[in-house]
Amino acid sequence: MRFKAVDVNVDRVLSRLGHLAGIGATSAGGVTRHTFSPEHLRATQDVAVWMTEAGLEVSFDQYGNLLANRAGSDPAAGLVLSGSHLDSVPNGGNYDGVLGVLAPLEALTLFQENNLATRRPLGLVSFIEEEGARFHGLLGSTLAVGQLSANEIADIRDADGIRYLDALASCKFALPSRPMDWAGGLHAFLELHIEQGKRLEAAGIPTGVVTSIAGPTFLQVRFTGQADHAGATEWGDRRDSLLAAAQVIVALRDMAMHEFEGRAHVTVGALNVKPNVTNVIAGETIFNIDFRAADADTRAGVLQRIEDIFAESATSQGVAYDTRELHYAPPVETTAHLRNALVQGATAAGVDCMPLVSWAAHDAMNMAQVTDSGMLFVPCRDGRSHTPEEFVAPEDIASGIAALANALLELAEQA
Ligand SMILES: [Zn+2]
Repeated sequence: MRFKAVDVNVDRVLSRLGHLAGIGATSAGGVTRHTFSPEHLRATQDVAVWMTEAGLEVSFDQYGNLLANRAGSDPAAGLVLSGSHLDSVPNGGNYDGVLGVLAPLEALTLFQENNLATRRPLGLVSFIEEEGARFHGLLGSTLAVGQLSANEIADIRDADGIRYLDALASCKFALPSRPMDWAGGLHAFLELHIEQGKRLEAAGIPTGVVTSIAGPTFLQVRFTGQADHAGATEWGDRRDSLLAAAQVIVALRDMAMHEFEGRAHVTVGALNVKPNVTNVIAGETIFNIDFRAADADTRAGVLQRIEDIFAESATSQGVAYDTRELHYAPPVETTAHLRNALVQGATAAGVDCMPLVSWAAHDAMNMAQVTDSGMLFVPCRDGRSHTPEEFVAPEDIASGIAALANALLELAEQA
């Protein structure tokens, strides 16, 4: 059996979205649900109730991630897992993460209502702290895949100095805690998410199959020139670090746009000029670069070009430079057989789909370390996200859920 968009109980999904929008609602029409806040716990608990009502076996893992399970006929077969997150940025939207939890819940509910047996068990997860508004981005899935040592976990604190472990210990989950061995027993992970861009909307296509999740690299660059009198210094004697930085900022954008079209995004969003005085040539300029590459080859190519651009500008302005990598996560390619399952799932649902790069990071990135990982995007109006204006049309919700449900069924039937 395969599902069409009309088979999805979209009123049920909309009423659940509306319910969750009321938990942590802000006066601006958004939602604030930081990990383990009363609002986050209430939203999680209410979703757990819906999971239980759907006949799923519900628990929390050792990190506070919410899990639900639907048994398969083969007890030895690996789990097909889907999910996202219920935490938000401050005054965030009502779909980012939430839809990725409610969509597989609706899919599994449809399987229950249609008495569909699958060979593999199906699972649902709501990861804690994806947005990093309290502790650290993608924390729930980072913990789940075993990326952090016990000491590193013990050191995680929020801005008030409260340790993650103490916050976790003070949570009263009204459900059993069942430690999950995330590294073993998984067959696949699929995450449905809003696109956070305009590509689907512009194409009029309701679903996007993610080909890769771009890996962010944050670089800090320092140009060192010489602070001199802004009036008295001749052109030829100037070593203007800000001018060098300005050339670089423009050149980086042009390079990413034209030489790596559709494969890289480069942004300079932070700049620190010294001495930052009107009548003094800038002696030192420090700026940060956020660059995201869709694949490892693109990353290597962009890095090389960044170096060329620095060197060229430094030479032309007579300044020195040095760079420091602040953060790096490798780009993650989604797994081919999951992309196929999603394309087939969309086709069986009668829904168009197109391939897309995910420019934002998601839990699916971490899950790729322990299992085959894939993502399905749905359009969000004007590409807006992390804002109260975030919106997904009901018909796109139904299309996305039908495609996801079919893909989950396909994967759950696989040998
Ligand atoms: Zn998200």
